[in-house]
Amino acid sequence: ARLANQIAAGEVVERPASVVKELIENSLDAGATKIAIDIEKGGAKLIRIADNGKGIAKDELTLALSRHATSKIKDLDDLEAIASLGFRGEALASISSVARLTLTSKPAEQENAWQAFATGRDMAVTVQPAAHPNGTTIEVNDLFFNTPARRKFLRTEKTEFTHIDEVLRRIALARFDVSFSLTHNGKIIRQYRAIKNSAQYAKRVGMICGQKFIEQAVTVDCQHDGLHLWGWLAHPEQHRSQNDLCYSYVNGRMMRDKLINHGIRQAFSDWIPNDSYPAFVLFLNLDHKEVDVNVHPAKHEVRFHQGRYVHDFIYTVCQQALQQALS
Ligand code: ADP
Ligand code: MG
Repeated sequence: ARLANQIAAGEVVERPASVVKELIENSLDAGATKIAIDIEKGGAKLIRIADNGKGIAKDELTLALSRHATSKIKDLDDLEAIASLGFRGEALASISSVARLTLTSKPAEQENAWQAFATGRDMAVTVQPAAHPNGTTIEVNDLFFNTPARRKFLRTEKTEFTHIDEVLRRIALARFDVSFSLTHNGKIIRQYRAIKNSAQYAKRVGMICGQKFIEQAVTVDCQHDGLHLWGWLAHPEQHRSQNDLCYSYVNGRMMRDKLINHGIRQAFSDWIPNDSYPAFVLFLNLDHKEVDVNVHPAKHEVRFHQGRYVHDFIYTVCQQALQQALS
């Protein structure tokens, strides 16, 4: 079982940041409103994610650590209209095959907390009593301790932490309603407080993308025929060095999608020379039935049923927003 899980881990667990991403997404799926992330040595030594979500019942701890065990798909219709972030049931099993993973959880309706971890070639799961408030903590120690070839590919502590920070930025931009904290080697690095009023969203965007971005950005908000695009676009010439300020989301998922990026770039290119990079934080919302999210295992790509239509919508909305701002 360990080997099969390690093979699967090759897809899911590329580096500490990918572990952090999977774990935060699980916390969000569990309805957490508060997520604390503690990192040591760039994540190679420790990744700890504590949430106040719905928790995992004692009886389900073992299952949560097994492959293809997901509590998130109940029938075929779910498959076609996946609303939750995780749905492959591989992350925890994969991570625990290449690290020392401990899962501690307490659902509100359960009196005591329990802890589970898998060991050995057969990944036998041990469950024992623990102390923990309502919610879940997942601790990942010594990532890739048993796959030296993979461990060798880890970059410096600083680089790995930068990737983790970037994962948090992307998620924190998608979930203004959740509070996040991030520490590295015991030092508080980020603290994003939950925002209830959408008028305050710009505050978090400013914290993440920089005050300069938010001050210069054009706001976008357009709804048409089942499509909704909103967010911020900034004049690229002032952000030449910041070509990484490209955040796009489809139904709350972070994406690096060619079709979306092309629509945005094309809108910019009408105004600005081709060699400059747009900076944006944009959210596209549409019916779940209009998109396939399982195109790429890392889940960064989507397939739109009406791609051309979506592309042209993005292009037109961005183009008009820029036109208003720049003319
Ligand atoms: P998936 O997210 O694809 O279902 P995972 O391997 O990431 O698969 O997680 C396995 C299962 O463990 C989830 O379906 C969920 O039931 C449970 N789980 C994992 N993390 C949490 C968490 N933070 N809070 C509550 N349940 C969790
Ligand atoms: Mg998951």
